[in-house]
Amino acid sequence: MADNGQMNFFDQLGLPLEEPIGPDPALARKMSKCSANGLVHFKYNPRMKRSIRCKANFLFGHPEVLLPEYMAAPEFAAARELAAEWAEHAVKRKTKKNKEIVKDLVARFWTVVDQVLVDKGRAPLESGGRLPPIRPKGKYFNLDDVLEAINHTYFEDSLQCRITWSNRVGGLSYHSMRKDPLTGEEFHLISISKGYDAANCPLYAVAGVVYHECLHVVIPVEEKNGRRVVHGRVFRQRERQYIYYDEWIKWHKEVLPRNIRAMHRHKEL
Ligand SMILES: [Zn+2]
Repeated sequence: MADNGQMNFFDQLGLPLEEPIGPDPALARKMSKCSANGLVHFKYNPRMKRSIRCKANFLFGHPEVLLPEYMAAPEFAAARELAAEWAEHAVKRKTKKNKEIVKDLVARFWTVVDQVLVDKGRAPLESGGRLPPIRPKGKYFNLDDVLEAINHTYFEDSLQCRITWSNRVGGLSYHSMRKDPLTGEEFHLISISKGYDAANCPLYAVAGVVYHECLHVVIPVEEKNGRRVVHGRVFRQRERQYIYYDEWIKWHKEVLPRNIRAMHRHKEL
């Protein structure tokens, strides 16, 4: 009791404690101890890496969550909130509906964690069937910059989408829909073939493919005699408005296949 009283006393004065808390005192002082609503408590474990745990009835029926220590960093604030939400559901009775909510929250939590790690320039954790994180920064091109320029020049900055280097080995660029793990909102995601992230790739070529995928965001797929037409007449017309259209197509047909073959042989591009 005496020790405890003293700790609170020093805490109130804002004085540093004699005894370090945990293995990293600087980090320990900044660690967030509970969720934004103050109901779910967080504890951190330096030995944990890719798991989280929760304990029921920690505070007036609310759970306590045990997180890997690196998740104490401020970048993980949103992920911690999802973990708190997860714990509140995980300690409840396992109805079918609740099980689904728990599963969804776990998936969203790890998606956010992987994205934070990648944004910090670190490797994502092993993703068990989860969607790969969004990585706009390549070796030679930052796709965010290319998208911004294309959006500004051809779409009056009106385009709402995100962009990443593709994780597919086939070498195709494509457009898809994704759900934001934090807000649940759907957004357009453009994925660009890594064959474009190469020393031999001119900026006009990568900008060309980004422009092409941007058109997929704004031009809906047509239905013709029961068939899906992705590159219809309107699409091809707009595509040709790209200032370096001919140069890009030439590069796309001649150099990209070579780069993709090199990628398959794990050669540096
Ligand atoms: Zn296309």
